[in-house]
Amino acid sequence: MAEFVIAPPVPPAIPVEGGGAFPVRRIFCVGRNYAEHVREMGGNPEREAPFFFTKPADAVLTGGADMPYPPQTANLHHEMELVVAIATGGADIAVAQALGHVWGYAAGLDMTRRDLQSEAKKAGRPWDMAKGFDHSAPIGTLIPAARLPEPTHGTIALRVNGTLRQSSDLSQMIWSVAETIAFLSGFVRLAPGDLIFTGTPEGVAAVGRGDLLEGEIAGVGTVRTRIG
Ligand code: MN
Repeated sequence: MAEFVIAPPVPPAIPVEGGGAFPVRRIFCVGRNYAEHVREMGGNPEREAPFFFTKPADAVLTGGADMPYPPQTANLHHEMELVVAIATGGADIAVAQALGHVWGYAAGLDMTRRDLQSEAKKAGRPWDMAKGFDHSAPIGTLIPAARLPEPTHGTIALRVNGTLRQSSDLSQMIWSVAETIAFLSGFVRLAPGDLIFTGTPEGVAAVGRGDLLEGEIAGVGTVRTRIG
């Protein structure tokens, strides 16, 4: 192969519990994946097929570092999410085999420039600049799947400056981790290093400079960042 004409980029990485780092290849995110009120009101939320968007790998923000308030927005929202890290790739992965492709789990934030997203929705334009901006994916320490059963239930919560803003349970996810992996692998061949943000429960809202975001998923871990 020809020699690179500039230095190849070092892959972004997230820290792993017990030491080491997980190199990030791509970041896929699931759209709306929590049933919210409908189910608790006795309704039957329609199980529409999940949809996906992406962030660049170097959107990850690790180690509890501050997140600079991004440009081009006046409405920066938090979305607290379970993150799945893929160890082995594949296309058309069956649900029954899907969890065998998982390296581990973490707590993460799908930070969103909501005003840009609203404009994009109205105009029928892509969400990239609303979702895939610099530092838009704060993420906590990755827990190996070998030490953790499939996280199918447990509290998922986010506090802003100590006040509870989002609180739900992983059992409220419409599409499970295994189903999400199976579905996504029908669109793209998954690869080692891919991350999947699995969607957020209700309670998303705006944050401003100086706000401290502290998320926790029971049994999985925490994520923390302060808006700079
Ligand atoms: Mn999200």
